[in-house]
Amino acid sequence: MPNSPPDHRLRLLQSVLSAISMGAIVLNPERRIVLWNSWMQQYSGISTEQALGQPFLAICPELQGGRVEMAITQALSNNFPSLLSQTLNKAPFPLYAHATAMEKQERIQQAIEISPIAVAGARRHCLIQISDVSIAVGREKLLREQALVLRSQTFADGLTGIANRRHFDVAIDREHRRARRSGQPLSLLMIDIDHFKPYNDHYGHQKGDQCLIRVAATMAAILKRPCDLMARYGGEEFGIILPDTDLPQAQRMAEAIRAAVQELAIPHGRHSNAEHVTVSIGIATLDVDTQPDIEMLIGAADRALYQAKHQGRNRSVSCST
Ligand code: GH3
Ligand code: MG
Ligand code: MG
Repeated sequence: MPNSPPDHRLRLLQSVLSAISMGAIVLNPERRIVLWNSWMQQYSGISTEQALGQPFLAICPELQGGRVEMAITQALSNNFPSLLSQTLNKAPFPLYAHATAMEKQERIQQAIEISPIAVAGARRHCLIQISDVSIAVGREKLLREQALVLRSQTFADGLTGIANRRHFDVAIDREHRRARRSGQPLSLLMIDIDHFKPYNDHYGHQKGDQCLIRVAATMAAILKRPCDLMARYGGEEFGIILPDTDLPQAQRMAEAIRAAVQELAIPHGRHSNAEHVTVSIGIATLDVDTQPDIEMLIGAADRALYQAKHQGRNRSVSCST
């Protein structure tokens, strides 16, 4: 525009400021509003006429003492630009995409840049630029949620909803290392439903699935501490990791679980020595003195489970590592 007359250039600038799809506010050194563009008018509900000449904080009183005011001071007094991060303050300005959003107080998500500007023949002014990042923020939130769902799906068993074998393997390894570091005991329960093959054969696979779901939920309800982890180890076999739990505590827990399953009283017409669905439990506790490896702990719990089966089922047996 080097050769165009000044009033033409001014009109052109005004048109540009009206057309840009972001908020633009200019403050003079006294922090009065000297520019409030059409975008600001549209999304704040405050007209340019209302805003012009007013002290900035009279128009946006809630920004007093906050990061926006601090950034304005930095720009006007110290000549420093600022970029306000999205994570700390998502929507400082009361801007709304439409009337319904305003009623619901759902603000536009904002990215804000505050820069000092030199004005010929006058003291330093300050430009506030606001862009609408709602779509990007929404997309990011969706992606984060999807990632969480995917993550929980890869670590959960599809039938019972409890942790799956992969989750168990990761957790037992982590807890084993933690126990070795801290010297705290670590116990493991291996649980297997008694005579489940004949149950399936007699009642059908679907009833078998329902039985698995009920037994898993009942056992999970016994665990009260967030650090305890129950997983579906295999078909009708479950593993429970009990950090900071010694053998007597693990034995009490195993008995509580065994009794709770029995009390469910799910009829089992093909059981050898009970009328209801029962479980057998093998218990092993990590011996902090010998510090065996994880396979030895799992092996000991498996051996104990085998003994529980051998001794007549519907019982818990412990085995030393
Ligand atoms: P035991 O008391 O010695 O454990 O006898 P059992 O019949 O339970 O032992 P076995 O391991 O031979 O049988 C396990 C059965 O569990 C076999 C399989 O049909 C059943 N099963 C494994 N996974 C599932 C499942 O997801 N759904 C159903 N319905 N049945 C399953
Ligand atoms: Mg089995
Ligand atoms: Mg079984």
